[in-house]
Amino acid sequence: MPGFELFGTEERKEVNDVLETGILMRYGFDGPRKGIWKAQELEKAITEVFGCKYAHLTSSGTAALTTAMAALNIGAGDEVIMPSFTFVASFEAVLSVGAVPVLVNVDETLTLSPAAVKAAITPKTKCVMPVHMCGSMADLDALKTICTEHNLILLEDACQSIGGTYKGKALGTIGHAGTFSFDFVKTITCGEGGVVMTNSEDVWTKCDGYTDHGHDHKGVDRGADLHPFIGYNFRISELHAAVGLAQIRKLDTFLSLQRKNNKALRAYLETIPEVSFRKVPDEAGDSCSFLSWFLPSEELTKAVIAEMKEQGILAGNFYWYANNWHYISKWDHLKNATTLNRLSDVQQQALLKLKDTSFAASDAVMSRCISTAISLLWTEEQIKEKGEKMVAAIKKVLTSATVHA
Ligand SMILES: *Cc1c(COP(=O)(O)O)cnc(C)c1O
Repeated sequence: MPGFELFGTEERKEVNDVLETGILMRYGFDGPRKGIWKAQELEKAITEVFGCKYAHLTSSGTAALTTAMAALNIGAGDEVIMPSFTFVASFEAVLSVGAVPVLVNVDETLTLSPAAVKAAITPKTKCVMPVHMCGSMADLDALKTICTEHNLILLEDACQSIGGTYKGKALGTIGHAGTFSFDFVKTITCGEGGVVMTNSEDVWTKCDGYTDHGHDHKGVDRGADLHPFIGYNFRISELHAAVGLAQIRKLDTFLSLQRKNNKALRAYLETIPEVSFRKVPDEAGDSCSFLSWFLPSEELTKAVIAEMKEQGILAGNFYWYANNWHYISKWDHLKNATTLNRLSDVQQQALLKLKDTSFAASDAVMSRCISTAISLLWTEEQIKEKGEKMVAAIKKVLTSATVHA
């Protein structure tokens, strides 16, 4: 999964270019920066590599989501339909713009269930935000149809699926806007960073201003810029952008290693008839940063996790169902509406309601799911050892369950 595994001389060279001039800011200082514009260069590379008209970098993936929502005019009281399985950043961003996160079930794609989305639409719904979790994608055709029918915004949280595609188009470029995260554990890292991608000039112009205190960036004198609207500071620094620039040039290498290693490990698990795999709406587009697999029941899954822990082979395997960061069952701070400062009444009421909301359909999927993070550094030998040990642990649990049945 992570680009940091292949950090090297290329990243150091790009960062050094910036350190040579000492201009760490992405705007201004035209003379002393000696033609070095890493953030601009990375934005151009993103539009070329992923095939979108516009890209605007931000200080994080969370900031990218907040920025995209502001630019898409999602605000006070608007409902954003999002999945119950995601990273906490998705609902943080919704709350940050005054909107209301409406959490709905995921299906065996580990992403938004289109039927659950349909059922959650109200007159206040403004946006559907699929999260392409663990390297693969939501059923975008179905979600697009729903959005078109109900005149809703489609915002893709593609933070975890850099390099994935759906029917030939890059994830994150298919909706009205989409975001990547370049935090330290993502497929491309800047250390910290993110991007909003869009094909709308209007959305891009708004992102450009919003991330820099509303500056219109029209003149060469930053001090004379006008402020057509209120913004924030979600800027990326030149140092961070420089790292990303080196990383994006290695993306093809990252992806081919991920795909090769994922396939090799999968071959071991495929030998067990009781193991099934995540449903992928477009198999060819899986970025393969994770291999996500299912066991027949929650009990068996918990037993396999326990067995893998016992054998010291659990590292890199994620049981999201019991994980503090990624699934509704453990988000007590969200369900209790625990914030430092006051939320709007509408937001607070919506969050408190989550406690009494059933996510049985998601539970049935997530309680049986284990995701294995795919390393770029595995050797064939290591994959063989890993695969054989995982198979042995799973078989041991399945055999013991049959004996006790
Ligand atoms: C990582 C991530 C984010 C947020 O990105 P940061 O850069 O860490 O702020 C948002 N959504 C998902 C699904 C993520 O995995």
